[in-house]
Amino acid sequence: MIDFPKRHRVPYDGKFRVGDFDTDPPQGSGNESKLEADLAQSVERLDELQRRLFADERHALLAVFQAMDAAGKDSTIRKVFSGVNPAGFRVHAFGRPSELELRHDFLQRVAARLPERGKIGIFNRSHYEEVLVVRVHEAALAAQNLPGAGAKGFWEDRFESIRDFERHLARNGTVVVKFWLNVSRKEQKKRLLERIDDPEKNWKFRLGDLDDRAQWDGYQAAYEAMLRATSRPWAPWYAIPADDKDYMRAAVARILVETLEQIDPRYPKVSAAQRRELQAGRKRLLAE
Ligand code: AMP
Ligand code: MG
Repeated sequence: MIDFPKRHRVPYDGKFRVGDFDTDPPQGSGNESKLEADLAQSVERLDELQRRLFADERHALLAVFQAMDAAGKDSTIRKVFSGVNPAGFRVHAFGRPSELELRHDFLQRVAARLPERGKIGIFNRSHYEEVLVVRVHEAALAAQNLPGAGAKGFWEDRFESIRDFERHLARNGTVVVKFWLNVSRKEQKKRLLERIDDPEKNWKFRLGDLDDRAQWDGYQAAYEAMLRATSRPWAPWYAIPADDKDYMRAAVARILVETLEQIDPRYPKVSAAQRRELQAGRKRLLAE
């Protein structure tokens, strides 16, 4: 059995290289039916762990997803959380910032959508777009009208802000786990063509996605810098091969299970006073 967290965790030493991490599943990861069984097992376990997280009310879990278009963020989120009580988690998709959001600091809109204790928050894109699309497309940075935009040390400062922000969250009970779904350029082309050829997928296609694709190398460089600077013990990144969806889903689900197991949420202990209430309740009901 593959040790998914160990295998895919981006090292904390700042030496990560995108080229060292595969877009294909590792050898011996098993066929489709094995991976589906693995996913099903994790989905069930996530349901149990989420209930305990909710009851325990001591921690929140924040799961961040970043990837190039068509890597499978949406379907991975849908499949992995398919067994979790919808009352226990919320997904936020972050698109282009509004006029008002642009006038705030770049963490403001994500800070407003963090999960409260007991809940799971899922970010489909996130504050990390601020060091990806904003770094690759000059116009996106210009739109922020910032002092010192693009000056020396600008991106390093952004990374520092992000590290500090996530460390603050960790200190206050929010466990942060981040997934980079690593799709190859070749597989992305195949999936974008499917969006054009399959009428049910046409709605997903945007010509603008090809502009991002045209900047592939720029994005890879931005991902590399981001992963180096922001994979830390209190908020690790996982680089998940995304060319095989079954593998990707099984890996993400298992890493989430193991992250929650480390939190080890417990149902609260019943106090002596509560025990007396329970007994009193039983007595009243039975006396009806
Ligand atoms: P999608 O998730 O494919 O529906 O598209 C959302 C789009 O919003 C992507 O093209 C992102 O790059 C873009 N986006 C998300 N966050 C930001 C941001 N902070 N600044 C600029 N563009 C963003
Ligand atoms: Mg898109």
